[in-house]
Amino acid sequence: MSLFRNFQSVKKTAFGRGSFNHLDEIIEPHCDKNAGFMVFVVDDVFKGHPLADRIPVKEGDVIEFINTWKEPTTDLIDDLRDRILSERGMPNGIIGIGGGGIMDIAKASSLMFTNEGSSVQYQGLNLIKKEGIWHCGVPTISGTGAEVSMTAVLTGPVKKLGLKCDWTVFDQIVMDPELTAGVPVDQWFYTGMDSYIHCVESITGTKNNTFSTVYAHKALDMCREVFLELDRDDPKSADLLMIASYMGGISLTYSEVGVCHALSYGLSKILEVRHGLANCMAFYHLEDVYGDYIHEFKTMIDKHGVSIPQGQSAGWSEETIDAMAEIAYNLPHMWDHAFGPDWEKVLDRDRIKEWYRRM
Ligand code: NAD
Ligand code: ZN
Repeated sequence: MSLFRNFQSVKKTAFGRGSFNHLDEIIEPHCDKNAGFMVFVVDDVFKGHPLADRIPVKEGDVIEFINTWKEPTTDLIDDLRDRILSERGMPNGIIGIGGGGIMDIAKASSLMFTNEGSSVQYQGLNLIKKEGIWHCGVPTISGTGAEVSMTAVLTGPVKKLGLKCDWTVFDQIVMDPELTAGVPVDQWFYTGMDSYIHCVESITGTKNNTFSTVYAHKALDMCREVFLELDRDDPKSADLLMIASYMGGISLTYSEVGVCHALSYGLSKILEVRHGLANCMAFYHLEDVYGDYIHEFKTMIDKHGVSIPQGQSAGWSEETIDAMAEIAYNLPHMWDHAFGPDWEKVLDRDRIKEWYRRM
């Protein structure tokens, strides 16, 4: 029996080099409500960077430079929302400029401006009660698909889990590949591989379907061109990777992630390894699940001379491995996708721990 799927899409999408120059005119129609100001959440890598001078901040707007070394937490969202509401009132909208972390901060904050209480209580599917404020995403690094997905992933006291509902999806995105030019090679690779891994997991699991598969295959071809054929500096490479990220994200909306992401969530929650790197650390050792895709992934690693940490588990205590396995095990939607509804017959905590011990 096929699953019924009916999802919200991003309402407006600008794409192309120089699109960022139109941000002012994109924001303008959304400026006349509430207390009359906009909030910009910007990765602090852009503090003092020429891009910061190009952000169309008007008098009265709030601009927050946020460090994304740690993945976004429920506390960060609650504090930001409480501070802005108490000092300034309800904003007209929020614009996120940065990577997947900033995309999620913009999406989650949009919802939390209008939904009372802590974001912790909304981690999950369709728990949000009210539509958020207008929100716009401007990605500056490609791979996560967070610009197009219906989830805002947050690390809370217990879970790393998204606020997931139709209202999470951006009202507007501005995809300008020029903005990704300064990403360091390692980070470019780790985040770019998120798109490759999304597509592999989307295709190989039980919830795949024509819609998700077609997007994933096209995005995989683009990843191959980017990571196996083109020079990093070739502008075509940045253009393709931005679209691969977007299409990988759409593919996932109609499918699901799998084993690699479940293990990656454990690494991020317990050891604070960032998403892209955590995926690469896990994916490297999943040949028994993802076969030839792992060989292709290793060819990409070799071509770019990127390092994926090895031998890490030697420094992990049994408690650490237990804790990561517990986080991973409690993501049944991922296991269901990877192994089918009877996943508990082929997967237990010991099998998960064995994967962690390979890392
Ligand atoms: P990130 O947002 O943490 O950014 C990675 C690094 O790249 C940061 O240090 C940042 O400062 C730097 N950076 C970004 N743009 C840059 C630029 N143009 N020049 C120089 N440096 C730049 O990483 P990410 O991999 O994009 O996102 C990971 C986050 O996204 C995690 O929090 C993960 O949970 C989340 N995520 C969300 C979804 C979703 O669907 N919502 C999907 C996948 C991942
Ligand atoms: Zn991912």
